[in-house]
Amino acid sequence: MICARLQVIRQQIAEAAVQSGRNPDDIRLLAVSKRHGPEKIQEAFQCGQVLFGENYLQEARNKIARLDPAISWHFIGHLQSNKAKTAVGLFQMVETVDRLKIAQALNNHAAEFGRCLDILVQVNIGHEKQKSGVKPQDAGQLIREVGKLKHLRVRGLMTMPPHTASPEESRPYFKALKTMSVQFTAQGLFSQNLPVELSMGMSGDFIVAVEEGATLVRVGTAIFGDRVVVR
Ligand SMILES: *Cc1c(COP(=O)(O)O)cnc(C)c1O
Repeated sequence: MICARLQVIRQQIAEAAVQSGRNPDDIRLLAVSKRHGPEKIQEAFQCGQVLFGENYLQEARNKIARLDPAISWHFIGHLQSNKAKTAVGLFQMVETVDRLKIAQALNNHAAEFGRCLDILVQVNIGHEKQKSGVKPQDAGQLIREVGKLKHLRVRGLMTMPPHTASPEESRPYFKALKTMSVQFTAQGLFSQNLPVELSMGMSGDFIVAVEEGATLVRVGTAIFGDRVVVR
């Protein structure tokens, strides 16, 4: 079941890429496994899926300890500074940096671990009051500050646009994030000599996101089905 769904999604990503003149290899599928048990992750891994996203640290820690060390993990949840150390120990990338304080905490712990941590800056592209993410007008300044931290590499931008009824309604938000990333790239704000990452698109709208330039699509429900509670 999970294998078949993964195949369909990979095919849809590849087709959307080709149709918009992009190389399908430039898009990675992040399988969002929050609130799904390790056996489902294992099943996806056996079908060639190596990149997974998690939202909750405690839950992620339990699962990561039980699964193959060849799996790569991205943190995509809301992060508090006092949990930064755990995050650095578990994840290859933190996609949800939206304030300097959290970046500094991650940087300090990455230094302790003697490593460099890849991060994305999360942008609140729809200016929604309740949502995480730096305001678009403040993103450039934040990236400049975070870029000074020696143990972080700012690899690009991430966003979660407002929830909409149809995927087409996400398109203007994806376009806006792409425009920002092009501007910031021209200003040399991202880690040099590495491809700039744009994490956008979920189960309902990842095809539109690929058409608009996503390099990471975060897909949960379309792979694993409805979420259950795993703690
Ligand atoms: C849960 C989650 C997803 C996946 O959402 P689906 O609609 O299940 O594909 C993607 N991104 C973030 C940040 C999430 O929290």
